[in-house]
This record gives sequence, C-alpha cells and structure tokens, in this order.
Amino acid sequence: MASITFKNIRKVYDNDVVAVKNFNLEIDEREFIVLVGPSGCGKTTLLRMVAGLEEISSGELYIGDRLVNNVAPKDRDIAMVFQNYALYPHMTVYDNMAFGLKVRKLDKKEIDERVRNAAKILGLEDLLKRKPRALSGGQRQRVAIGRAIVRNPKVFLMDEPLSNLDAKLRNEMRAELLKLHNRLQTTFIYVTHDQTEAMTLGDRIIIMNYGEVQQIGNPQEVYENPSNEFVATFIGTPKMNIFDGELIKEDNRYFLFFNQKKIELSEDINKKLIERDIKPQPIRFGIRPEHIDLTEELEDGFKISVEMSELMGHEMLIHTDIDDNPLVIKIPTRFDIKNGDRVGIAFRVDKIHLFDKETSFNLL
Ligand code: ATP
Repeated sequence: MASITFKNIRKVYDNDVVAVKNFNLEIDEREFIVLVGPSGCGKTTLLRMVAGLEEISSGELYIGDRLVNNVAPKDRDIAMVFQNYALYPHMTVYDNMAFGLKVRKLDKKEIDERVRNAAKILGLEDLLKRKPRALSGGQRQRVAIGRAIVRNPKVFLMDEPLSNLDAKLRNEMRAELLKLHNRLQTTFIYVTHDQTEAMTLGDRIIIMNYGEVQQIGNPQEVYENPSNEFVATFIGTPKMNIFDGELIKEDNRYFLFFNQKKIELSEDINKKLIERDIKPQPIRFGIRPEHIDLTEELEDGFKISVEMSELMGHEMLIHTDIDDNPLVIKIPTRFDIKNGDRVGIAFRVDKIHLFDKETSFNLL
C-alpha cells in the first residue's frame, strides 16, 4: 500500500508539447483514482511518469515518503496494466503470469503459490495451460491483471484496460475491478476517456483537459457541482444542455431570462448569488436532460416540438430545439409521445447551473 504525491509536476516532450502543466495531487493509500479527459489531455503521460516510463520535466513525485523522480521502473513497486494487455503470445497463461517473478528470481514454490492465488481471484484456474490466442478478450484482460497481481505491488496503474472489450464485457469487468480493489486494498490509478467508467469506478475523479486539471472530486461532486462548463458537459450522458441567457435581479431576487421567459431561480441558488454578490449579466447556463420535466403548466415552462424520441427501456430521450439550440430531455418512458407532438416542458429550477460567459467558471 502506498500514498502518491504529485508536486508541481510538469511534462514537456522534446517537440515542446506541454503534455502536463503543474499537476498537484495527493492520492491516499487504497484510493481508487480515475484520470479522465478527452484524447491528448495528458492522462497517459501522467500515468507513465508514475510508472517511471516517462521522465518528469519538473516537479516532485513521491510514492509513500520516497521521492521517485529518478527511481527505475522496476524499483518502484508498482504494476501497470496496458490497453493492449501486452501478453507474450508464445507463453501459456501460467507462464505469462509467472514471468515477472522468474525474472526477479523468486523461488519456484513461491511463484506457483502466487500464480495460483491470482488465478483463483480472477477465475483463470482452468485456463492456465492455454496460450493467449486461445482466450477471449475478457480472459486476456484478466491474465494481464493477473500478471500485475502476482507481484503484490503497492500501486496498480491501468491505462484504458477495458477499451478493447465489448460493452457487456466492459460492464462486467468494471464490477470485477471494483471487487478486486476491495480485496487487494491497494492504491489504483486508472486512466480512461470514458466518463461513465470514471463515474462508476473512482473514489475520486481527476478531470483533465489540455494538460490541466479541471476538477478533482468524488463522482457526486463533479456531477452535481461541476467547476466549469467543460466539466459540466464532459460528465453525464446525454450531456448537459447549455444555453445563453441573461441573469437579472429584481427586488433582491435573481431570475434567468431565456427564450422570452423570466425563470425564477430556486431559493438556494438565489441565496448563493446574493452571498457572492453576483452582478446581473449575460451568462451561459446549463440544465441536465434528466432535470427537465413535461408539464401542462406553461407559466414557468416552454412549448416544444418533439423532433425525435429515443426509447431506452424505462426511460426515453426527447430531442428538440429551443431558441435555435439543440435540447435533449430524459423522462420516464411514455409510449403516447410521438414525433411532431407539441409538449410543455419545465426546468427544475434548483438544478440550473450558471456559468460565467467569459471564463466559463461555475458562478455558484
Ligand atoms: P489518449 O487518450 O489519446 O491516449 P492522453 O490524454 O492519454 O490521450 P497523452 O498521451 O498523455 O494524452 O498525450 C498528451 C499530449 O502529449 C498530446 O498532445 C500528445 O500528442 C503529446 N505526446 C504524447 N506522447 C508524446 C511523445 N512521446 N512525444 C511528443 N509528444 C507526445
């Protein structure tokens, strides 16, 4: 087990690409941390710096109390699982898992115990004699994880380990990884571009963009209180609807003016805006698809035309336009709603997010 501390970590590649800018984070022992962000945001670079596969341009990296900037990968007590599994094709499952231990010259009995124990944890006991080509994608993935487990590392690093699996298997492996984490009680750092994966796995999620941290928080925090418009639209599916609007203030109450309507904001939001003395201004605002309801009461709502509806089982999505912007609504399924229908909708006013138009920071 080990904590990990990043202090002002920066990575500049030879081609002058700044992949990671001033990254700071303390990861607790046993935490499951997920680094998430779009392609090129620097998450793999960060992971590879922890593994020792990439030099750190400046800053300090500690595993436990030990400064590891110049410690060789093999001496860091970590194990990494890659996206492509990196199994040896000519070796059996058993030998793939045993290989790293043989290199370390552990005795045969110890190696055998560790491999069989990992195989048991991962349900690979019946596959030990097979070669990787005779395994399914999910089984290969488990062997790759098994090879990491046998080393009893202090830290597990995983770089998009599930991205080559189909959707069903990915869901199953996600649950397996959570069980594994509970069982091993080890620090996990997991890289993905998939926000759903991040939300289901992470104790804390680090959302990155262009080499910079956008927000650090647990899944509930980043979903309910995104720090800026980028996080707001990156976390959650379908993504948050965003519009231009106008924040107005009358008699110490704030309203949102949008699409010729004055929407009264909730008590809670009003209080926060007053406390922060936010000036009335043009703003961007967001509302998640699941926070819009159908309503007959049009005093606070809008009439929209259903352009397309998408059934997803017990829930459905309605796609439409409002004020020339696309809008998606997620509601419990209603079979009576057809394309072309006009329906009334209302935003849940306590779920509205307000963003500064210039900086895109959350105003609340
Ligand atoms: P992806 O999800 O596509 O793997 P990522 O978030 O993991 O992306 P990184 O691989 O860390 O991103 O890359 C961050 C930035 O650094 C990108 O702009 C990338 O082009 C650049 N980069 C990565 N590796 C190198 C390298 N070896 N030499 C030069 N630039 C690199």
